[in-house]
Order: sequence, then C-alpha cells, then structure tokens
Amino acid sequence: MANVVIIGGGAAGCFCAAILSELHPLWQVSVLEAGGRLMSKLSITGGGRCNLTNSFALLCPDSPADLNRVSVKTLAQVYPRGAALMKRALSSFSQWDCCEWFENHGVELVVQDDQCVFPRSQDAMQIVRTLERQMRLGGVQIKCRHKVSSISPGLCITPGDLRPDAVVLTTGGGTAGILQGTGIELVPPVPSLFTFRIGNEGLRSLMGTVVEDAALSLAGTHFRSQGTLLLTDWGVSGPATLRLSSYAARYLADNQYKATLIINWLNCPGSEVSLWLDSMAGGARMIANSHHPQLSDRLWRHLLRRAGIREDCRWQQLGSKGRSRLISVLTADSYPITGRAAFKEEFVTCGGVALGEVDPSTMQSRKVPGLYFAGEVLDIDAVTGGYNLQAAWSTAWVAAHSI
Ligand SMILES: Cc1cc2nc3c(=O)[nH]c(=O)nc-3n(C[C@H](O)[C@H](O)[C@H](O)COP(=O)(O)OP(=O)(O)OC[C@H]3O[C@@H](n4cnc5c(N)ncnc54)[C@H](O)[C@@H]3O)c2cc1C
Repeated sequence: MANVVIIGGGAAGCFCAAILSELHPLWQVSVLEAGGRLMSKLSITGGGRCNLTNSFALLCPDSPADLNRVSVKTLAQVYPRGAALMKRALSSFSQWDCCEWFENHGVELVVQDDQCVFPRSQDAMQIVRTLERQMRLGGVQIKCRHKVSSISPGLCITPGDLRPDAVVLTTGGGTAGILQGTGIELVPPVPSLFTFRIGNEGLRSLMGTVVEDAALSLAGTHFRSQGTLLLTDWGVSGPATLRLSSYAARYLADNQYKATLIINWLNCPGSEVSLWLDSMAGGARMIANSHHPQLSDRLWRHLLRRAGIREDCRWQQLGSKGRSRLISVLTADSYPITGRAAFKEEFVTCGGVALGEVDPSTMQSRKVPGLYFAGEVLDIDAVTGGYNLQAAWSTAWVAAHSI
C-alpha cells in the first residue's frame, strides 16, 4: 500500500486525488490545502459556470475530434507556453476523455457555438461537488488550512515532517517557491490574460464599442492576435486583447507594461481597404455619414479625426494624401499601452516549474524521484476558452496514472 500526498486542493490536485483513489482504493491518498476549503478558484471559473474544457475544433476544423492532426505550432495558439507537453498530455487524456469522465460521474455537458464546454447546469459548484464526492467515496484524506512551506529532495514535507512515497505538487500559479532547495529550475511568474490601459482619451471615450473582427499587434514584435475587440473606459479588452496579453505576457512584464498597440480595425490588408475606398470615391456624400459597414458611426468619426479628415469633407474631396492617411489609420492605428488592467473573469500565471525539469510522459521531476507536478504550478498556460482547466485535468491524469 502506497502513501501519496497531494499538495494543493485546486482543480488539478482534487482531480488527481479522485483518479488515484479510483485506481488504487487501498492506497492512502491525502490532499493538503492551504485555504479553508477545496477548489475555491474552480468554483468561480467561467463566471461561476465553469468552462471546463473546449472541443479544440477551431484548431482542427477539418477533423474536429482529432488532436493527432494538430501540430505543436497550432497548439501554441492556445498554449503559448507548454504546447509540446500538452500535445503529449492530451494524447493520454484528451478533451473528450475529460467530457467522458465528467459525464460518467453524472455531469451533463454542453458544447457552446464558440466550442467552450460547460456543465449543462451552468453551475461550477456541480464540478466541485462531483470531485468532492469522488474523493469522499475513494477515502481521500483532506487537510485544509495546511500550508506547506517546503519539500526537501528526500520528499520530506514541512510542516508536519511527512515522508510519503510520492508527492504531487498542484499548488497553482506563482507558488513554486516551496521547491527552493530542490535545485529544480523555476521560471519567474508573471500574469497573463489581462486587458490594456491605453493613453488616449479619444479611444477611451468610445467605451462600449465592439469591433467584431480586428487584428492587434505590438509594434516592433511578432506578437499578433485577432478577434473581437472591446473598447472600455480604461482602454481595450475582449478576446483579441486577452489573447495578445497571453502571447506577449513575458515581453510586456519585461517592458513594465509599456508598448505600442497597433490596431487593424478591419483585420484586412490595405489593398482591400483601397478597393472599398474605390467604391466610395467621387461621391457627393459626406465621408462622416457613410461609415465602413464593420465600424460603428462613433468609431468611424474618431478614425476620421485620427486621419485628419474634416467632418464636412465629401468623398469627392478626399485627395490621395487623405486617402492614404485613412488607409493607414484603418489598418495600422497606433496607441500607447500605459499599463495592465485586471480581467475580472479570468487570469492565469505564466511561469512556474520549468518544463525541462519534468518528464512529459509521467509528470515526474527529473531531479527529485517521486515528486510529480500537475496544473498551473507548471510553466503551462493558455488563452481563455477552457484550455487552462484542460491542462489541469490532463496533467493530473498523467501524474496519477504514472504514480
Ligand atoms: C476568476 C477566474 C476564472 C477562471 N475561469 C476559467 C475557466 O472558465 N476555464 C478555464 O479553463 N480556466 C479558468 N481559469 C483558470 C483556472 O482556474 C486555473 O488554470 C486552474 O484553477 C488551475 O488549477 P490548479 O489546480 O493548478 O491551481 P488552483 O486552482 O489555483 O489550485 C491551487 C491550490 O493550491 C493551494 N495552495 C497554494 N499554495 C499552497 C501551499 N503552499 N500549501 C498547500 N496548498 C497550497 C491553493 O490554495 C489552491 O487551492 C480561471 C481563473 C480565474 C482566476
């Protein structure tokens, strides 16, 4: 009979405990949790609805269920850090295995049009209760308010001087410091999934404006994203912004969250905008009164001001200079990012246990035998859409099976 201690009672830790207790009913499995209750973060995921995974269909539209066809490069669109390890972990425990596990344990699921998967009850507590029930049935020992301060290379856990046969570290983002002294390399933690403060009054006055399909980039870098852009009273938000914050998380942290944001308002090249301008050219209508169909009236007037085109200017009066200024504003409008703002729905930590320290087929430490990792404590993080929780389930499943 083995004795396994799981440090951290979040999504990864509790799933790992549930799986271990199903696989080995006679083993002694304990969860040590620093807080007063288990899975407090999981209970608020997805705005309280828990977006527990994703169909991944948007990554492989030709064969939606087949992750084998997804390259690491494509997977990196959703896992900017950890795509290679996740490819392997998903081949052991995929999004469909996750759905099957929860459905077999009584949770009906729905796949939304955007491919995010939620419990049909739309209640994150159903996921929490399901994991709690499985741990209870499996005889898992839970100790809350037990904050671990260190683990020695000999697997001695402090406080408590516990010496189990195996330890699974699932303490979440920014917590890997308890490994100091083990020689395990840690990637410094920085936040990911945040919105940008923009130093431009004109843009902020457009708060509430939604642009369905914009392209964003950071000047002088290769970081780009596209999708829905939301203008807020502090700057920019929405899926395109969050994705860019994820891709550029470390770059932005290194630059104290100061950068230049380039917005292509129509997510199309200048040549396409030029064709549209050709179709409008020569008309007697005022430019201000005939906005591009993808842009709101308010945003259009703001962009005309940015291009230095007067409100009373008519299409027939738009000279070649005005035309090229307008194309430039529509396709490469630049704004100063002055800081980072929190995203109220979700954020994750980029950084943690360096992936080179982990055997990806077992999640075991290469330096400390018997020590396993799962969840956000690893240097794995994803864009929004259920991918972060899938990383917790997949890595926890692999760790449990390897133990
Ligand atoms: C508001 C919000 C909403 C989110 N919504 C979604 C979503 O809908 N879909 C999605 O995929 N992702 C979502 N995420 C991200 C997701 O919640 C995390 O990726 C996931 O919870 C990571 O699971 P984990 O078990 O690794 O870490 P955690 O859930 O953070 O759990 C770690 C646990 O370890 C405990 N712990 C820490 N240090 C110690 C210690 N020294 N000793 C003992 N215990 C310790 C903590 O108290 C905590 O309970 C959201 C995140 C936030 C903040």
